[in-house]
Amino acid sequence: MKTRLIVHGGAWNIPENLLADHLQGVHKAVEEIAPRLAAGMTALEAVEAAVNIMEADPTFDAGRGAFLNAVGEIELDAIIMDGCNLDVGAVAAIQNLLHPVSVARKVMEESEHVLLVGAGAQLFAEKHGFEMLDPRELLTERELAFFQSIKDDPDFHTRDPFDQAPMGTVGAVAMDRFGNLASATSTGGTPRKLPGRVGDTPIVGAGAYADNISGAVSATGWGEAIMKTLLSKTACDYMENMSANAAVEKAVSLLKERANGLGGLIAIDSSGHYGIAFNTPKMARAYIESDGNIVSEIN
Ligand code: ASP
Repeated sequence: MKTRLIVHGGAWNIPENLLADHLQGVHKAVEEIAPRLAAGMTALEAVEAAVNIMEADPTFDAGRGAFLNAVGEIELDAIIMDGCNLDVGAVAAIQNLLHPVSVARKVMEESEHVLLVGAGAQLFAEKHGFEMLDPRELLTERELAFFQSIKDDPDFHTRDPFDQAPMGTVGAVAMDRFGNLASATSTGGTPRKLPGRVGDTPIVGAGAYADNISGAVSATGWGEAIMKTLLSKTACDYMENMSANAAVEKAVSLLKERANGLGGLIAIDSSGHYGIAFNTPKMARAYIESDGNIVSEIN
């Protein structure tokens, strides 16, 4: 069976001067991981590894480079899901870590739970040997300057930015050579969010969903609206009756119509077709074609 890998680096109005970094970032994740997936890596391993690459890339709002919340701190959310058996793990509002998606995988595999938050998630990560970083190691000058420009602006609202200010959640969806599907999403959330705010990303069925029977999805965009529409699960349900592309188009229309939401989805259906849809001005994404060619797109 041919393997499949698609990744995204967030849906927003990516300005000209950041286009190249976004395209390179998503391209690199596919270029490094697609050959390993073809060589036998599982879909679950592939989505974790692809997201790890983008979490380490300061271009994106995930891991290093994440937004600051209203009190100037970084709180990260992440999820990973295995379409074989619906196993899922997630962390929310976790701090001082570069790879929250890997902690999410540990939650899935080495705890009895699905979602750990805040200090408890951090304690779990420490116990499982994750390196705790000084918060400054995740902070970029770009985000510090952006935070300073919005922190006292009474006209700034967290919904506004999806067609204006920076966003750059990352996600990956893969199918391995056994036809198994997996998805993962990782984010710093929205700029100037309240401390403790949890977005769609770590919520099962909102920020990601994977089921071998229907398909797998990773979401990005205005989290409050994505949660209300359980957008990833909604798109998976649609994939039971239509292709990945038709399903994500329909889900993004629903996001707009029912929740006035802005965002984007990537997907793979159970036949291995890709789906891409967004209603923001741009969404960075890359995927591998059957002939081994890598496509990176932003418009
Ligand atoms: N969905 C993320 C959140 O609301 C943000 C994003 O995708 O850019 O936390």
